[in-house]
Amino acid sequence: MTTSVLGIADDRALGSAVRVIVTRPASLAAAKAAVDDVLAAIDVAASRFRPDSELSLLNARPDQVIKVSPLLARAISAALRGAELTNGAVDPTVGSAVRLSGYDSDFGSIARNGVAMDLVAHRVPGWRAIRFSEATRTVVIPRGVELDLGATGKALAADLAAEAAANIVSDGGVLVSLGGDIAVAGEAPADGWAIQASDDSAAAISDSEETISIASGGVATSGTTVRRWVRAGVVLHHIIDPATGMPVRSMWRTATVAAGTCVDANIASTAAIVMGEWAIGWLRTQRMPARLVEVGGRVHRIAGWPDWAESKLNPTIL
Ligand code: AMP
Ligand code: MG
Repeated sequence: MTTSVLGIADDRALGSAVRVIVTRPASLAAAKAAVDDVLAAIDVAASRFRPDSELSLLNARPDQVIKVSPLLARAISAALRGAELTNGAVDPTVGSAVRLSGYDSDFGSIARNGVAMDLVAHRVPGWRAIRFSEATRTVVIPRGVELDLGATGKALAADLAAEAAANIVSDGGVLVSLGGDIAVAGEAPADGWAIQASDDSAAAISDSEETISIASGGVATSGTTVRRWVRAGVVLHHIIDPATGMPVRSMWRTATVAAGTCVDANIASTAAIVMGEWAIGWLRTQRMPARLVEVGGRVHRIAGWPDWAESKLNPTIL
C-alpha cells in the first residue's frame, strides 16, 4: 500500500463539522478558501435557521411568484428531483413537520432532554404543491408549506465545494465532508479516497471500522442516532416520514450510500431511512451501493457495496 501525505483542514459550517482534504498539501489554503466561499453562499441561500436567508424569505412569502438566485434554484431543483426519484420518501415540504418535532433551530442549541410536546400526525403537504420553473427560476410556495432543504442542500454544498476547490487547485484532488456528506473531485489518490462508514461522522478513524474507497462522486450517511432528542422520555429525531409528518420509526439506524454525486447519495440515504425494508429493493433497482444498519446492529450490504475486508468501490452509478 502506498502512503502519501495529505493536507487536512477541519472547521465547522452549516451546523456541521467540515473537513477538507487535498492530495497536494501546498494547495490546502486555496482549497479551504474555495470551500468556505461555497458554504457561505449556501448558508445565505438555503439555511432554515437564518431569518435573512433567501429560503427563509421565500417561506415567508407564500402564494407569490418569487424569482430565486441560481444557487437556491439548484438546491430546490435537487430537492424536487429527490422527491420524484424516491416517490416522495424524500420531500422538501417537511419544513413545518421538522420544526414541530422540536428541531427548530441550529442543532447545537436544541435541548437534548425536555418536557412533553404535542405531536399531531398529518401527512406533509407534498412536493407536488411546489410550483417551480427551472427556466425562469421562479417558485411559488403555497400558504402553509415550509420548504426544508436540509437533506439535499448540505449534499449539494459538498458537491459544489469539492468542485470549486478542485478547480482552484491546479492539480491533485479534493475531498469535502460536511458532517458525513462527502464529495470528491479532481484526481483521486492512487488507492482512491478511503471512507469510513460509521453511525456518527464524528467517530474516530479506526482500523476496526468498515472502510470503502471511491475515486469519484460522493458518499452520504443518514441516520437516527446522532441528531436525536428526548421529550418526556420519547425519543425524537430529525428524519421525518412524509406520510405522518413525524420522526420515522425506521428499521434502519444508519444508511450510507455511494453515488455519482453527493446529492444523489444523500437522496438515497435519507430515502432509505424513510422507506424501511423497501429500501433494499429500491436501492438495488437504482444500482446504488449501500450499507444499511438495522437498529439492532445487523449490517446489510447492497448493490455492490463491497464485503468488509475486500473493499474497493468506484461508484460510477447514475
Ligand atoms: P439527512 O441527514 O441528509 O438525511 O437529512 C436530514 C435533514 O433533512 C433533516 O435534518 C431535515 O432538515 C430534512 N428532512 C427530514 N426528513 C426529511 C424527508 N423525509 N425528506 C427530505 N428532507 C428531510
Ligand atoms: Mg445528509
